[in-house]
Amino acid sequence: MKNYKLLTPGPLTTTETVRKEMMFDHCTWDDDYKAITLKIRKQLLELAHVTEEDYTVVLMQGSGTFGVEAVLTSVIGEQDKLLIVANGAYGERMEDIAKHAHLSYAIYHEVYNQIPSAEKIAEILEKDPAITHVSMVHSETTSGILNDIEAVGKVVKAKGRTFIVDAMSSFGGVDIPVKDWGIDFLVSSANKCIQGVPGFSFIIANKQKLIESEGKARSLSLDLYDQWKTMNKDGKWRFTSPTHVVLAFSKALDEMLEEGGIPARSKRYYDNNRLLIQRMKEMGIRTYIDQEHQGPIITTFLYPENHAFAFQDMYKYIKDRGYAIYPGKVTEADTFRIGNIGEIYEEDIEKVCSIMKEFLEGR
Ligand SMILES: *Cc1c(COP(=O)(O)O)cnc(C)c1O
Repeated sequence: MKNYKLLTPGPLTTTETVRKEMMFDHCTWDDDYKAITLKIRKQLLELAHVTEEDYTVVLMQGSGTFGVEAVLTSVIGEQDKLLIVANGAYGERMEDIAKHAHLSYAIYHEVYNQIPSAEKIAEILEKDPAITHVSMVHSETTSGILNDIEAVGKVVKAKGRTFIVDAMSSFGGVDIPVKDWGIDFLVSSANKCIQGVPGFSFIIANKQKLIESEGKARSLSLDLYDQWKTMNKDGKWRFTSPTHVVLAFSKALDEMLEEGGIPARSKRYYDNNRLLIQRMKEMGIRTYIDQEHQGPIITTFLYPENHAFAFQDMYKYIKDRGYAIYPGKVTEADTFRIGNIGEIYEEDIEKVCSIMKEFLEGR
């Protein structure tokens, strides 16, 4: 099979050295292995600009959704009420989780190409004192918009509520001072901006709030407190851990630090993204999100006018030449998406744009 690079927001293209780490069958209760889990948790705290004093890290088996579900169903108790802020499919998935777990919740929907308003959230919290928690997505991968979690975090803290952020596709690619922005629980996963492979999610948690959640979990396997309590002893996971994925992730973290940490990675992603949007614009292809709120991770493009073509045809044409792109996910317009995270550089962006140009000219 012909190899191709992924221009998708995770799983994404990883380095060969990260993939090679998985050629080792580690024992789960071995001290060397447990030390890797402890090291990962420590490195994640540093990337989040928080200390062991008031924050901690929990790793959770499964993809990113398992991490979001673990937080929502473990920290929101019987007497609590959640405000879900949604301007895309991932915000809406939180509502799905809330429904399945019978959580008490309210939802503030925003249109997909607008960022949720912090003032509006302040008003909702003012009017409904029963709300104890607020959850929202940072980088809405549905559209590529980057929501203003800093402004919302300020409001949530000022009103004394708990703030939960799905930073799945942004953590590591966009700098997030977790404590300064008032975030109590931040969820991300192994296969996004840290550039590991899929298999677990991680939660950066306000330690006090995590401890207060003891006994509230509505699920055994997704019990965040229980998972932390076991893992915090010596790095042994509660149930079988994805050993190969953990090894790959540890290597990916080291490579990220070698690259220059979040500032360097973020710059690479922003540079990729700017170049991509520029080249597309030159072909008459416009973005769905305005420049002001466009995030650096993934971009939704509107189909060019006068170019009626099927996504599948374009996908295949580009894939045959070495890159996989993504279908659109917004409902009100015909779109496709291109991600620019992972082991992707400006030369890849130039290449995929010239393939795209060739495809359009051949029509
Ligand atoms: C990737 C992603 C998730 C998790 O999706 P999974 O398919 O469970 O990995 C959640 N939220 C956002 C914003 C994402 O980009």
